[in-house]
Amino acid sequence: MPETYGPKGRVYPLSALNDTMRLVRIRCPYCERQHCYQPSDLIQIFGDVDVDSLMERMKCEHGRDHGRLEVEAFAPTGREAVGLRIRRLVAIKINRVPVWREDAA
Ligand SMILES: [Zn+2]
Repeated sequence: MPETYGPKGRVYPLSALNDTMRLVRIRCPYCERQHCYQPSDLIQIFGDVDVDSLMERMKCEHGRDHGRLEVEAFAPTGREAVGLRIRRLVAIKINRVPVWREDAA
């Protein structure tokens, strides 16, 4: 789906990172945990959204009250890539919520 991204905003879709082999580092400033993700995995969850919008969309898994997360796109350099752990999406669990309706017999 080709969309034009005008010069007005800094909208930078996740798919643009995919093309340049970059990763997304998400850090919680509260508990200082951080994880690296592949853009393609994040697209499966959030769609091809603006990278910066992940600050609002993602929550620290160690506490929903940890506030905004820091989001950074980066291309690991050779040195950095050694031992770099990338968090891969294994599955998306879907909560099944029953919805009921009262019918006349
Ligand atoms: Zn946290």
